[in-house]
Parts: sequence; structure tokens; C-alpha cells
Amino acid sequence: MKPTILDGREVSASLRSSLQEECKELVEKGHQPGLAVVLVGNNQASRTYVNMKKKAAEALGFHFELIELPEETSEVELLTIVEQYNRLQHIDGILVQLPLPEHIHEQRVIEAISPDKDVDGFHPVNVGRLSIGLPGLKSCTPYGIMKMLEYYGVDLEGKNAVIVGRSNIVGKPMAQLLLQENATVTIAHSRTQNLSAVTKQADVLISAVGVKGLITKNHVKPGAVVVDVGMNRDEEGKLCGDVEYNELLSLVSAITPVPGGVGPMTITMLLNNTIEAARHRLLTSAYS
Ligand code: NDP
Repeated sequence: MKPTILDGREVSASLRSSLQEECKELVEKGHQPGLAVVLVGNNQASRTYVNMKKKAAEALGFHFELIELPEETSEVELLTIVEQYNRLQHIDGILVQLPLPEHIHEQRVIEAISPDKDVDGFHPVNVGRLSIGLPGLKSCTPYGIMKMLEYYGVDLEGKNAVIVGRSNIVGKPMAQLLLQENATVTIAHSRTQNLSAVTKQADVLISAVGVKGLITKNHVKPGAVVVDVGMNRDEEGKLCGDVEYNELLSLVSAITPVPGGVGPMTITMLLNNTIEAARHRLLTSAYS
């Protein structure tokens, strides 16, 4: 049987049309959702990502502000700007595009963003809230994967979920989200012994590593659902994931392509988080 292709573009389009409606409702109530993105320095990839975020936010009807700062901006200057944006009532979400220049301590900047405006979901308060099952802003990529699994009706209850990769932005929050849906969760990483024996236990396998060709048919149980977060370049410079997609097609029950799988979901969830942040602020005293 042919596997289901988990199409991130389709899920994104569906979510974005609901978000556009929600944005309209907020505007009718007198508040246009506002997203501020801070870009420090001249990293071309970062600039491309920021432009994609701007386009997506404006297409939905958000207010968008881009704060462009030179490479030599000091940490104190950046922290001061973040503080200013924390106080601005028309801004619901603040995102500082990573990576930052080496002289700036990323974690200090992440922690300076108000948790209520932390639309990347990286602030320790939001990470902690996720880990104890309280509402909060969630990391966009794993949150997007959950939305995609939900859209395609992938049942997680009691299933073995294996995540390869333990980063703070993908692997660890992914584990928390799967656990909340009652999956039995295993996290593998670079020190894991006999990776294929671990991944073969997976009903749902998520690879978030960044190594082309890491996951082959020898790593996957027949009928598994495979989600490929990896973003790598092949010999011709084309975007590819961690997973040997073609050789898995005849083995799995569902799989994400790269490109067109997880990637499109990440920006969509940034928009989703901005709406969540706006709604939360409208309901709490922080917003008056
Ligand atoms: P990190 O580099 O922060 O983490 C990679 C993880 O993979 C680490 O936990 C590392 O283990 C583990 N790892 C490395 N080599 C192996 C191996 N041979 N076997 C098993 N585990 C291994 O990456 P990110 O989490 O930030 O990103 C992962 C991938 O996802 C990248 O390709 C990135 O570009 C992509 N990505 C895609 C997004 C999207 O929107 N599609 C968004 C974010 C990321 P250890 O901890 O032991 O070092």
C-alpha cells in the first residue's frame, strides 16, 4: 500500500486560513496582532528566514516590525531594545533571529524576552511550563509536527515514539509534546549505541539531526510513521532531510518529504504563537 505523504504545505495552508480568520476577529475587537523580529548582522540565511516571516505575517494581516541592527551591536544595546519591545502594547510577539554574532550571549537574550511574548517558545519559563503540562508558548517546529500528525489523524496514544536528536529547540520539546499525547517516548542522540535497534522500535520516528542519509530502511519498522526534520544539502546543493525518503516509501505508512514536510509548518506555528500570545494578553492584566 502507498504511504500517506504528510504534506506540510497543505496543513500550513489550512492552518493559515484559520489564523487569518482569527486575526480578523482580533482586529474587529480593536487589536491587530503584532510581531517584532530583530535581526542582528549580515547572515544571509537569517535574512532570508526573516523575509519569509515578514511576508507570511503581513499576508495574514499582522502588524510586522523588523528591527535591523548592525553586526557590532553590543549585547547591552540588544537587551535594551528587547526590553523596549517587551513594554510595547501593540507588539504581541518578539523573535530575535538566531544565530547571533559571537560576542552576544544567546541565552541571555532569550531570557530577556518576556515569556508572554516569546513566540519562539525558547524562554525557560515556557520550556518549564511545557514540561509540567501548563499552557504556554511552544517551540514552533515540534508544535508544527504535532499539528501535522493531528491533521492526518496519526494516533499517538500508547505508541512508541522515538526522536533522534535532543536539541532544546526540536528534540526535547518534541519529546514533551509526544508525552502529553500519551506516547511512550525515547530520545536518541549522538552517543546512543546501536541506533537502528532503537529506531526500529518506533511506531512514530522523528529524525532531527542534520545528517543526510542517517535514517535508512534498516532503521525503520514496517508501517511506521516517519517525520524528517533535517535540513541538509545534497551533492548538487539541493535541500534534503536525514531520511532516505525513496527507499522508505515502500516500507512506511506515512512520511514527510523534504522540502514540503516539516519546513512549512515552522513559520505557520510562529504565526499561530503570535495569535496565541495576542489572545493571552487580551485576557490578562498585562494587556490594558
Ligand atoms: P542540533 O545540531 O542542535 O542537534 C542535533 C542533534 O542530533 C543532537 O542532539 C545530536 O546529538 C544529534 N546527533 C548528531 N549526530 C547524530 C548521529 N549520528 N546519530 C544520532 N544523533 C545524532 O540541531 P537542531 O535540533 O537545531 O536541528 C536538527 C536538524 O533539523 C537540522 O538539520 C536543522 O537544520 C533542522 N531543522 C529544521 C527545521 C525546520 O523547520 N524544518 C527547524 C529546526 C531545525 P548530541 O546532543 O549528542 O550532540
